[in-house]
Amino acid sequence: MNLLIWLDGKLVNKADATVSVYDKGVLYGDGVFEGIRLYHGVIFREKEHLSRLYDSARAIRLTIPYSPAELSAAMAETVKANNFKDCYLRLVVTRGVADLGLSPVPVKRPCTFIIADQIRLYPKEMYENGMSIIVASTVRNHPNALSPKIKSLNYLNNIMAKWECIDAGVPEAVMLNHLGYVCECTGDNIFLVKNGKILTPPEESGILVGITRGAVIELAKQLGMTVDQNNLTRYDLYTADECFLTGTGAEIVPVTKIDQRAIGSGQVGPITRQLTDAFHRLVRDH
Ligand code: PMP
Repeated sequence: MNLLIWLDGKLVNKADATVSVYDKGVLYGDGVFEGIRLYHGVIFREKEHLSRLYDSARAIRLTIPYSPAELSAAMAETVKANNFKDCYLRLVVTRGVADLGLSPVPVKRPCTFIIADQIRLYPKEMYENGMSIIVASTVRNHPNALSPKIKSLNYLNNIMAKWECIDAGVPEAVMLNHLGYVCECTGDNIFLVKNGKILTPPEESGILVGITRGAVIELAKQLGMTVDQNNLTRYDLYTADECFLTGTGAEIVPVTKIDQRAIGSGQVGPITRQLTDAFHRLVRDH
């Protein structure tokens, strides 16, 4: 299927949507991005995604050459051109083209593109029966070195943990932070349930502050559940009653095994199901 890609203000065929080998995004991972979903023709939490994108850009001293309203219009144009009602959007801003040096100045102009496509991160079976994950030995980036709050084009930290998943034959891995506390997975945030309470690592543990994570915390509170955002350890993982992961691509996916240990009963738990149902209602009616 030919897709139309929005590249620096123009819609171009997928085959022609290329960036320069001199682009800083290619040479150094110097850039930022968002992964966004369109449900029933409406972008889910668009304002939050745009706000995170501009914060990421600000954090790396990158000036996006469009206003949020212009990027919003560009996403709408891309979706319309491809005739999508439900899709995944990848909005990327790289530092742009310059010479081979590390310096981000002088770079003429950042490069901006939007891909609209379909995505399925995990097989359907895992949403029904839960997935098995591991704890990775790759430690999440130190938040005082490069903050994981920045959704940057440099995902090597996460990719090295992803290699551990591939070696272990599982789809995801929990990454611990520099202090040994539970942080997040390679591309998803993590939640536990213990004695009816929802537990998730705090922002300060060095996570990407997920938009789906935020939506799930809101839903849990609306359902009268308590949400604790305190540091968690491996002990908390292994002794949890339930576990699930959240992300734009993943949505909510249950976890029933960590490091080959059954979580709770080893079945998808009732609170995970309740929150998943609430999330489906939210994205249907948002
Ligand atoms: N953590 C990481 C490292 C991610 O890459 C992502 C997005 N795939 C998430 C968490 C989840 O964030 P969101 O819910 O905003 O997609």
